[in-house]
Amino acid sequence: VISLGVPRRTVITTCAYCGVGCSFKAELRGDQVVRMVPYKDGGANEGHSCVKGRFAWGYATHKDRVLHPMIREAYTDPWREVSWDEAISYAATRLKDIQSRHGVASIGAITSSRCTDEEVYTVQKMVRAAFGNNNTDTCARVCHSPTGYGLSQAFGTSAGTQDFRSVDQADVILLIGANPTDAHPVFASRMKRRLRQGAKLIVADPRRIDLVRTPHVDAAHHLQLHPGTNVALMNALAHVVVTEGLVDESFVAERCEADSFAAWAEFAARPENSPEALASVTGVPAEDVRAAARLYATAPNATIYYGLGVTEHSQGSTMVMALANLAMATGNLGREGVGVNPLRGQNNVQGSCDMGSFPHEFPGYRHVSDDSVRAIFEKEWGRTLDNEPGLRIPNMFDAAIDGHFKGLFVQGEDIAQSDPNSKHVAKALSSLELLIVQDLFINQTAAYAHVFLPGTSFLEKDGTFINAERRINRVRPVMQPRNGKHEWQAVCELANAMGYPMHYENSSQILDEIARTTPAFSGVSFDLLDKVGSVQWPCNEKAPLGTPVMHVGSFVRGKGHFTETPFVATPERANRRFPLILTTGRILSQYNVGAQTRRTENLRWHGEDVLDIHPFDAEERGIAEGTLVSLASRVGETSLHAHITDRVPQGVVYTTFHFPGDAANLVTTEFSDWATNCPEYKVTAVEVYPKSAK
Ligand code: SF4
Repeated sequence: VISLGVPRRTVITTCAYCGVGCSFKAELRGDQVVRMVPYKDGGANEGHSCVKGRFAWGYATHKDRVLHPMIREAYTDPWREVSWDEAISYAATRLKDIQSRHGVASIGAITSSRCTDEEVYTVQKMVRAAFGNNNTDTCARVCHSPTGYGLSQAFGTSAGTQDFRSVDQADVILLIGANPTDAHPVFASRMKRRLRQGAKLIVADPRRIDLVRTPHVDAAHHLQLHPGTNVALMNALAHVVVTEGLVDESFVAERCEADSFAAWAEFAARPENSPEALASVTGVPAEDVRAAARLYATAPNATIYYGLGVTEHSQGSTMVMALANLAMATGNLGREGVGVNPLRGQNNVQGSCDMGSFPHEFPGYRHVSDDSVRAIFEKEWGRTLDNEPGLRIPNMFDAAIDGHFKGLFVQGEDIAQSDPNSKHVAKALSSLELLIVQDLFINQTAAYAHVFLPGTSFLEKDGTFINAERRINRVRPVMQPRNGKHEWQAVCELANAMGYPMHYENSSQILDEIARTTPAFSGVSFDLLDKVGSVQWPCNEKAPLGTPVMHVGSFVRGKGHFTETPFVATPERANRRFPLILTTGRILSQYNVGAQTRRTENLRWHGEDVLDIHPFDAEERGIAEGTLVSLASRVGETSLHAHITDRVPQGVVYTTFHFPGDAANLVTTEFSDWATNCPEYKVTAVEVYPKSAK
C-alpha cells in the first residue's frame, strides 16, 4: 500500500450482504475507503469474511448512484431533479389526495431487509401512525415468512434457536434446502471445520451442492429429493423416529404438550408416511431415509440448518413446523449443538421482521388486534391505531390491479425483479397512481415510479442489523450520506408532511424507542453495543448481555407444540408441455438481484445467470454447453445460456436471479405458501429448447 501521507482511520461496521452479519474494519484514507478488513472480534465471523463483504462495496460510490430526489407526473415521463423539500411535499400531497378519494387503506409501504432496524421501524411506524392503516409488509415475505409462522407456532418465537458457535458442538448436521458455501460462506466455513472434526452431515437437496462432495467432509447421506416434496421427506423421517422407538420420551414429557405430541405421533406412524410408501413421491430410497433418521435421532447432538429451499414452497410453513416437530421429538433443542436454524438470506431479514414490518404484527411479533399491545404503541406514538391486519405484498399487487390500492412506498427493494411472475408485478406497479421508491439506483421497480428518494449505502448508515443468530450488530457510518439525508430522516419528513409529527435527533433515539416498546429489546442501546460489541436478543432485565441459545429449560410459548404435517403436492406439476422442474438459487460472488454486486469487481467472477441442465436432458433437446436456450413456463419465457452439469438431477434445471433483463422471475409462478404467501420460487414446470429451434 502506498502511503500518501494522509492519516488513516478505521470504522468498525457490519457487512450488508448475507445473514451471517460479519464485522469489518473499514480503513479510510481521508474520506475514501481503501479496504475492508474482517474484524477479528466480530461476534459472527471472528476475523473471517467472503468475497462479497471483502471486495463488493464499491457500489457505494458507483457513478450510477442517484443522489438527488426526482419526481415525474407519469412513470412514462422523464425524471425531473428537485429539492428534498419539493419531493417530500409532492409525495405527501399525492398520498393524501389518494386517501381522500380512495380511502385510508388505499396506500401502503414495503420495507427492506437490506436496511437498518431503525430505518425499517420508521417506515412501519409511518404506515401505522401517518397513513392510518396496517398496509406494511417486508421483502422477507418472499423468503423467510414461513420461518416466522412455523417457528412461532412450535416454539413461540420467530427466530433461529442457536448462535453460530453452537455448531461446534454438533455431532450430526441436517442441512436442508440450503447451500451455505455460496449463500452464507463464513458460516459454511465454520460448519466445514466441525465436519472435518468428524461430525456427520445429512444433506437434503435436489442438487448436488458443494458440501456433498467437499473433501474430508462426511456427507453421510445425500437425500436427493424431487423438488416440492420436502414435507413428504420429513414425514418419512418422522415415521422412522416414531415407529423405531427413537423419540426422546423424557424431553417430550417434560418440555412439550402431551396432546399435540400424541396426535402428531399417531399421524407420523401411519403406514402412508413410511419411507417405503413415500419413496415414489420423494424419489429418495427408503433405506437412505431410515439410515438418515437413525443417524439424526441417535446422535448426542443433532442440529438442523435450513434455507430458502424449505420456505419458498407452497408448504413452506408446514415444512418449518415439520422441522420443529423432528427436533422436539428427538430432544434436540435447548442446549448447544442442537436446534432449528434458518439461514437468513439478506443482512437484516431477522431485523426487518423483528421491527414490525408485517401487516398483522407490531414490533416484537405482537398481533395488531391485541388491545394491550396496541395501547403500548398508541401511548408511544400518540395516535389511535388500526386493529385490522393490512395487506401482504401479493395482496397489494392484486388490489392495485383491481383498482383498490393506489399508492405505494418501496424501501430498498427491487420488487419488479425479485418477486415472482414479473409480468403480474409490472402490471400492478403500472396500475398505481403513485409509486415512491427509496433506493440507490434506478432499478426495474423505479421504472414505474413517480417519486425517487435517494437512499444510502451501508457505508453511510448509522444503526443496527440483526443476523440469522439474532445478533444485533452496529452499523456505523463510514462516510456521510452522499445523498444529504439518512433514509429514516426522509421517512420522518414524509410522515410530518402528511400531518403526523415524527422526529428523532439521531438513530440512537429510534433504537431507544424500539427498546421502550419491545420487551425482547428492552436492554439494547447504542451504548451497550459500543461497550460489548453485539448482543443476541432477547436482551432485557433477565438477560442483560443477550441470549445465545433460546428455549433453555422451557420454550418461549411454554410447552413445545407439535403440528401434524400432511403432505400436499404443489399445484405446479410437470406435464408433457413443461416436463422439467426449474429451481433457483444464488452463487457466491453475486447477491440477490445484483444491484450492488453487479456494480463491483465481483462481476468478473460471474457475468450472467446461466441455466444448469443435466447431460441427458441437454442431449435430448440438442443443447450443447453454452447454447442460448429458451426457458418457458406457463407464465412467461426468458433466455439463458446452458451449462451442462450433473449437479442437477435429470428432470431438474437450475438458475440464479442476479441479473435483470432475461431474469428468472419472468417464468416463476404465482403459487405460494398457504399460510404466509411466500412465493414458490423453487418449483416451476418448464421446457427448455435451443433458442433457434422454436
Ligand atoms: Fe458478508 Fe455474508 Fe460474506 Fe460475511 S459471509 S462477508 S456477512 S456476505
